[in-house]
Amino acid sequence: MQNLATELTERKRLQLYRSRQTLESPQGVLVRIEGREYLSFCSNDYLGLANHPQLIEAFKQGADRFGVGSGAAHLVTGHSYAHQALEEDLAEFVGRPRALLFSTGYMANLGVISALTGRGDLVYEDRLNHASLIDAAQISNSRLVRYPHLDLARLTTKLAAQTRGQRLIASDGVFSMDGDCAPVAELAQVAEQADAWLLIDDAHGFGVLGRDGRGCCAEQIAASSNELILMATLGKACGTFGAFVAGSEDLVETLIQQARTFIYTTAPPPAVAWASRRALQLVREAQPLRDHLDKLIERFRIGAGQLSLPLLPSTTPIQPLLVGDSGEALRLSKALSEHGILVTAIRPPTVPAGTARLRITLSAQHTHEQVDRLLDSLQDLCGVSRNAAC
Ligand SMILES: *Cc1c(COP(=O)(O)O)cnc(C)c1O
Repeated sequence: MQNLATELTERKRLQLYRSRQTLESPQGVLVRIEGREYLSFCSNDYLGLANHPQLIEAFKQGADRFGVGSGAAHLVTGHSYAHQALEEDLAEFVGRPRALLFSTGYMANLGVISALTGRGDLVYEDRLNHASLIDAAQISNSRLVRYPHLDLARLTTKLAAQTRGQRLIASDGVFSMDGDCAPVAELAQVAEQADAWLLIDDAHGFGVLGRDGRGCCAEQIAASSNELILMATLGKACGTFGAFVAGSEDLVETLIQQARTFIYTTAPPPAVAWASRRALQLVREAQPLRDHLDKLIERFRIGAGQLSLPLLPSTTPIQPLLVGDSGEALRLSKALSEHGILVTAIRPPTVPAGTARLRITLSAQHTHEQVDRLLDSLQDLCGVSRNAAC
């Protein structure tokens, strides 16, 4: 039996120890931790919906109407009118025939990949894909083939090398720790030529990108009726909780029969689905918020550029500063928190070794002044050094 204490100590020594902070306030750009208020650049609540009065109201109405627990799995008696109505709203919104709710995005990815592939099949994944997509390929028992980040030429070569079995390409739509976007239209072409499934995980694009916030696949879906499978989460820009997969009638029926993370789990509380329906309405109407968010992103990038900060190339609300060393990333994160600013240090294994970073996320609830305050603090901590690791 391994000695847990020794392993934990080793983790600390490597600056890889993880711990939690307890929020005493709702999620937002201003949060309270241990009695102190912080300006936060950490959440994925990109539109500030998590604590929106209309969502709170819808959640309460949902609880009044449907109670708290769903009491059973979807295939038993847990599938409520709230879930059904939300699935219909989601399918209509993204422009696919059907959508299927999952309790979490992690479970949705596991469910889709293991329902569609198995032993003898191949799953092709961008090297920087989210852990849930990687784990999904592993539990499906198919062979995981990783290709260099955004390198479709290499993906094409790897696809050509192996033609037996089912093949599925999976990619983050917006890369969660990098903020850059997958070339969805090109991926769809590659998939079509290889007769492979394409699964796009749009956890960070849904609600933020595309017309009315339909996400990074909006144009691709509108332009063609191909078999693109869209997965997106409701716990980020939508401000609630859960996830869905959208696709053809046959795809969704197959998932209902085969996706174990859909079948063998209790349906989420219906009131959450009820609140998600309202969130979807708010997302549709949120163009002014998205416009403001774009301005904040531009302001931050210009300011960070003037300070020669090591920004990654991203046009989304995820604006990471590449630090490299895990200890240094932690030190910067701690120093920022002493300035009253929260920014999470992201370290391996969440990101590749040697690429620890500060993952700054912007929200439509931030003001220009708050972005300037972040830039001022970064300037204080990093000086105007041109050194890549601040
Ligand atoms: C957050 C995230 C998930 C997991 O979604 P949850 O609903 O939080 O389980 C999946 N994929 C990506 C890219 C994510 O960022």
